[in-house]
Amino acid sequence: MGYDHDLLSSGRVTRVVKACGDPVKDAGVMEEAGEIIKKGGLVAIPTETVYGLAGNALDPNASRKIYEAKGRPSDNPLIVHIARMEDLDHIVKKVPKAAVKLAEKYWPGPLTMIMEKADVVPYETTGGLDTVAVRFPADPVAQEFILAAGGYIAAPSANRSGRPSCTTAGHCIEDLDGRIDMIIDGGEVCIGLESTIVDLTGDVPCLLRPGYISLESLRDTLGQVTADPAISAGADMAEGIHPKAPGMKYRHYAPKGELTLVRGNAADVIRKINSLTQELKKNGKKAAVISSTDNAGRYSCDNVMDIGSSEDEDEIAHRLFAVLRKLDDMEVEYIYSECFETPKLGQAIMNRLEKAAGHRIITV
Ligand code: AMP
Ligand code: MG
Repeated sequence: MGYDHDLLSSGRVTRVVKACGDPVKDAGVMEEAGEIIKKGGLVAIPTETVYGLAGNALDPNASRKIYEAKGRPSDNPLIVHIARMEDLDHIVKKVPKAAVKLAEKYWPGPLTMIMEKADVVPYETTGGLDTVAVRFPADPVAQEFILAAGGYIAAPSANRSGRPSCTTAGHCIEDLDGRIDMIIDGGEVCIGLESTIVDLTGDVPCLLRPGYISLESLRDTLGQVTADPAISAGADMAEGIHPKAPGMKYRHYAPKGELTLVRGNAADVIRKINSLTQELKKNGKKAAVISSTDNAGRYSCDNVMDIGSSEDEDEIAHRLFAVLRKLDDMEVEYIYSECFETPKLGQAIMNRLEKAAGHRIITV
């Protein structure tokens, strides 16, 4: 999926620069970006998960600016990104044994760990919490940038609050042009879903957000790991469940059209979606279907978005946010999606889709 060329051409306010991950070629860009951060400014950066909106994690004013640029509620904490293992000690009170084990296996990579924060991390960055979320990203551009910017970068996903996360620099321009100082274009991200978040502050490690690293993988490394019940709870948290990751309570990723998921065996799902979209068409409404490649030819709807083969869960994860954004561009009013309960990434993909759908699911 390429960039939106209209957005990349004239009329842009925020400076967009390219980086490739080669420290020699990127040196000029990184020097400039590092200066912006050191002066308290904001830069959108690629990571292997999704694009992040970066500011100095140790500067309360920079964190305030991040919330403002995203329109994010200030009780929804930011993830602190580092690019050297030894920098972890500076921002947490102590490094739990579980963190050492997980870091050896998954860092640098798409895993965020929650630990007790050190005093140097301001409450503006942690949304008022005494804990801090830390990640060491694998993307070389992200690493170069973090080091050039002083080593401690607060970087939530670069989308405006409530919108699907950004997987290209074009998405960052759509959401943040004119609101931040620079966008570093490192091309399309690799994974396309946000990091797995695990809380290491309790007696038993607890999964707060599913991601590329699955609950099973965490259990392989640590033994017992629980999962926060809020991961699969309804949007309104009606069951009285209070999520440990504050961000889990907000509506996320929501496309402008009304998204409904349809779960069941393929033939029933296709029949149901065809009948719903035919009815909408009769009433003059614009509908779309999110389909696996396997079924894409079996829908009668005018707008079928092929998200990838059901055999290729990496591809589905990679395309998910871009597909949701594309549906916004198409001004579709109703969207029906198949469920993608794939073996490894199914939990993470369905977590994002269910949130995007406001937990509207039809079982056939
Ligand atoms: P984003 O950076 O947009 O992917 O969002 C970061 C996520 O990490 C949000 O859902 C936060 O609620 C969660 N998070 C960050 N810091 C903490 C923390 N100290 N405790 C629990 N969750 C956290
Ligand atoms: Mg986010």
